[in-house]
Amino acid sequence: MIKKPDLQEEMYSQIQGRELFEQVKSYAYAYMDEVYGRNVFPTDEAIKNLDIFDEPFPRATGNPALILRMLHEYGSPATVAQTGGRYFGFVTGSSVPTALAAGWLSDVWDQNAALYVLSPIISQLEATCEKWLVDLLELPAGSVAGFVSGTSTATLCGLAAGRNELLRRQGWDVHLEGLFGAPNLRVILGEQVHATVPKVLALLGLGRGCVEIVPTDKQGRMVAEKMPELDGHCLVIAQAGNVNTGSFDPFDEIGDRAGLVNAWVHIDGAFGLWAAGSRTKKLLTYGIEKADSWSVDAHKTLNAPYDSGIILCGMNYTPEMSRRARVVELWATLKSLGKDGVEELVDRLCDHARRFAENLQAKGFRILNEVVFNQVLVACDTPEQTKATLENIQKSGECWCGGAVWNGEPVIRISVCSWATTVADVERSVVAFVKARNTVDSSKNVETKRT
Ligand SMILES: *Cc1c(COP(=O)(O)O)cnc(C)c1O
Repeated sequence: MIKKPDLQEEMYSQIQGRELFEQVKSYAYAYMDEVYGRNVFPTDEAIKNLDIFDEPFPRATGNPALILRMLHEYGSPATVAQTGGRYFGFVTGSSVPTALAAGWLSDVWDQNAALYVLSPIISQLEATCEKWLVDLLELPAGSVAGFVSGTSTATLCGLAAGRNELLRRQGWDVHLEGLFGAPNLRVILGEQVHATVPKVLALLGLGRGCVEIVPTDKQGRMVAEKMPELDGHCLVIAQAGNVNTGSFDPFDEIGDRAGLVNAWVHIDGAFGLWAAGSRTKKLLTYGIEKADSWSVDAHKTLNAPYDSGIILCGMNYTPEMSRRARVVELWATLKSLGKDGVEELVDRLCDHARRFAENLQAKGFRILNEVVFNQVLVACDTPEQTKATLENIQKSGECWCGGAVWNGEPVIRISVCSWATTVADVERSVVAFVKARNTVDSSKNVETKRT
């Protein structure tokens, strides 16, 4: 009887044989060849075909080549072409090619980033990126960085640091004594805070009861004069980049007022903090250095691969021990872009947003925000027309945008986040908008004079 090779032997031969990796490399290249031109959202057929993954957990070990083929044949077509140039949904980001390639190598390294002794190279890259980010964003010297999965976790870290420090100053050690019986804190935030912030506050035991909401203006900016009287119990949460309008809070005023009483200021700068890397957009971030902690995503505006968030703070708190060496891709992104590249990227995303706004306005759409950054809010003549147009856009495969409600009105939200977006992509998407709206008009038998 021929002895069946055991699992370990098989795995060794898979590593040595390379076929698996060659196979997946050819799939990856095929994907790259397609993704910039293909339908942005998967077709109905591709989604239907996902049923193949709904199977019971197999008893037998699988055939590697078939597993990879299944993933490519049925998985690749059911991805969203988010790395391409015509995805404008949510606030996402593509991947800078050097970083994508560096990620492949890093995958093979499979390092644990928890400690220096677990991986000297990863510790070095983290130290390098920390220095570069503090330099680029012009944050106070000595600010330290934690490399986490995204801004949700980064904000968790920043607000935890603020909570603990404010309580420490009042003689209360959260680590030792917990929160029960702790002195009260006050949380000050804008009406238009991102949905992840209340979630983080709940996790940190800072319930809705201690939140004081500051009114915002028409663009979603906190009105500094309407902030309540601050004191040393206050955790103030400001925002660089409103997720709908892209607007920025008045950091300078907020920072000055907080500084007088030693309140803690955290800035949620998920996609907007990168404005600091552009000479023409930098004014938007004026005064950010007066804050105490900052959260920012590398996987949005900066176009580092997922998942990559950063907490910058005077103290170092991150929740995980073992974690992915995501800094490899971040380092490769920053090194390949350089300061000039970051600036060019930020400016290009903003220019495309302006182009979208101008071209859509010329076609009779309404633009509801001041386009200060990469976000554009679009509406048709009526709420019903807006919603139906958005549905047609999403089905078209030509581009993809999300919906939101702004000042009580449904809107189509465009977020330009991909390095891959070209002028032609914007123009093609504007054509798709017009066609989507015309389809609504004609299906309702409304006469339309628009072209
Ligand atoms: C995306 C975003 C978040 C959440 O970031 P994740 O990386 O998804 O965790 C928080 N705040 C703002 C303003 C965002 O745009």
